[in-house]
Amino acid sequence: MSRSEQLFERAVTCIPGGVNSPVRAFRSVGLNPKFISRADGAYIYDVDGNRYTDYVGSWGPMILGHNNQEVREAVIRAAENGLSFGAATEAEVEMAELICSLVPSIEMVRMVNSGTEAVMSAIRAARGYTGRDKIIKFEGCYHGHSDALLVKAGSGVMTAGVPDSAGVTAGCTKDTLSAVFNDLESVENLFRENDGKIAALIIEPVAANMGVIEPEEGFLQKLRELCTDNGTVLIFDEVITGFRLQTDGAQGYYGIRPDLTTFGKIIGGGMPVGAYGGKREIMECVSPVGNVYQAGTLSGNPMAMAAGLAELRILRDNPSIYGHINSLGDLLRRSLRDLFEKYGKNYQVTGTGSLCCVFFTGTRVTGYGTAKTSDTEEFSRYFRYMIEHGIYLAPSQFEAVFLSNAHTKEDIAEMLNVVEGYLKEAATR
Ligand code: PMP
Repeated sequence: MSRSEQLFERAVTCIPGGVNSPVRAFRSVGLNPKFISRADGAYIYDVDGNRYTDYVGSWGPMILGHNNQEVREAVIRAAENGLSFGAATEAEVEMAELICSLVPSIEMVRMVNSGTEAVMSAIRAARGYTGRDKIIKFEGCYHGHSDALLVKAGSGVMTAGVPDSAGVTAGCTKDTLSAVFNDLESVENLFRENDGKIAALIIEPVAANMGVIEPEEGFLQKLRELCTDNGTVLIFDEVITGFRLQTDGAQGYYGIRPDLTTFGKIIGGGMPVGAYGGKREIMECVSPVGNVYQAGTLSGNPMAMAAGLAELRILRDNPSIYGHINSLGDLLRRSLRDLFEKYGKNYQVTGTGSLCCVFFTGTRVTGYGTAKTSDTEEFSRYFRYMIEHGIYLAPSQFEAVFLSNAHTKEDIAEMLNVVEGYLKEAATR
């Protein structure tokens, strides 16, 4: 029995499903998870010594590749001064200044410990600011696991086929309204039916938790206008897209200015971090200035700030990184489309920048309903073939392929080779 299988046997007896986050389980693809011992650059190694080219990148933070030397050294230096003070530090000021300088819509920012917390807090701030209760989210968008947002959520919720979660009371979700991604009419209807009651509209500007789905031309702009007209706080959840598409995220990429933005992943460089920020007048509602309470023992933790600052400074100072990862993304999408065409498969290849996704369907994917048309059995066979041949993908149809600065054209060529092997094998079935 492999070490991974041995560890899994132990893990399932004392950790639910053997994992500390459901997206790490390989259940939906009919396997047990690999236990990882280390990672470096584009590669990840399991406890049995197998090497995989990694296209998960810890679900986004590892945009520079794994175990980046500057980030690692910054953390070690910070650790030498103590792990946590629960008091104000210089690094937190530097982090806030850096985020404000890179993202024009952010005038003030508060650090938290996860994307979930960032979203939960941003929603609370929006409600406090507007004095309204209701929020609009989009089906298939995932905004973390706080009660009010576990309504028609994506990511692991979608993979498990459970649209909602047990343990969330009707009271917690009664003010959460769901609209359809890329369907403006669904949003307009909600605004009309709930006139003057909508505190916030939250969206992943590029949906990346139901596979990857781009906003259609003009969609985000229209949402901006609807929010402005209705006095509703527009929140971009940039936990995935922030500092990934470019330094000012999807909002810079699409030229939209949200009122609040949530971050996570990349801003922590691999440490547990989240942040929310935006318009000064909204952020000044937050405690201790205003009466929206939000706090955190470990928020702005020195090591997390050190890792995040090192990572963000590298991204700021080396714009060629975005040139590299975005062109690898273009290459991957183009080549996958060519391959599928060569083998007579009408699969959908989606994504933008360094995010990519394959849907095993002939239907154009524009939102939750069409994402669900993907043949997840086919995805499972594809996933198993890929991992057997050294390509580590997210073990779910409804997640993204994440590229990093450590990936090379050669890595992409290797991946395409394996995909072609899969298509050849599938043809014999
Ligand atoms: N928002 C989005 C868009 C996400 O992708 C995620 C996590 N993948 C979250 C929020 C929640 O972040 P965390 O897992 O750090 O709580």
